[in-house]
Amino acid sequence: MTDIAGNVRAIREEIERAAEGREVCLLAASKTKGPELIREAIKAGVDAVGENRVNEMTEKAALGAYEGAPLHFIGRLQKNKVKYVVGRVELIHSVDSPELMQLIGRKAVQLGTVQDILLEINIGREESKGGFAPEETERAVELAASTEGVRLLGLMAIPPVGDVFSGKYTYFDEMYKLFVDIRAKKYDNTFIKVLSMGMSGDFTRAIKAGSNMVRVGSAIFGSR
Ligand SMILES: *Cc1c(COP(=O)(O)O)cnc(C)c1O
Repeated sequence: MTDIAGNVRAIREEIERAAEGREVCLLAASKTKGPELIREAIKAGVDAVGENRVNEMTEKAALGAYEGAPLHFIGRLQKNKVKYVVGRVELIHSVDSPELMQLIGRKAVQLGTVQDILLEINIGREESKGGFAPEETERAVELAASTEGVRLLGLMAIPPVGDVFSGKYTYFDEMYKLFVDIRAKKYDNTFIKVLSMGMSGDFTRAIKAGSNMVRVGSAIFGSR
């Protein structure tokens, strides 16, 4: 059996060493894992839980899997599933198009709420991944600033595995630069504070590059 509490403890220690005093949010990426295991992770003190699939999230929520921790949505969000996510999660990490952002805003307005979001940036420009191209970031931030019903908190990325170098800098470094740039610009209606990057295999490097939210799955729950 996987020692979830022990894993969370070890990850926390590693985070602390890498963060050098900065605060880092540990999110448990719980796709394919059942309510029992998720509750164990929450009890062990993770700061949030993140799901990838709407149906799976809805089923597990009905079983009380997420009680005691904020729930985030971190997977690709299909437009026809927006209504099952807005207002039900604290943060959507994976806003990857202007259309999706506007649908989320519209649904939130309908519900009389404001949905916190991150922009997903396709920092490695990979065909297989969604997200805004790095050079589209500024326009997307401006759109978020003027879209009713959404509040932009920052950026998220899933760089190519192993955080290879893209020229002089790593992709994590490039994400940090984008994050610092948009944070410095102080757009209306945005509260840029979250940089979500780093998973089981690379969260230490991500934190050293400036990440303050890591999404960790297999290092907590064991392999999928
Ligand atoms: C599954 C997943 C993770 C966690 O991956 P691990 O390598 O298991 O830590 C993080 N982010 C997203 C978006 C995921 O889908």
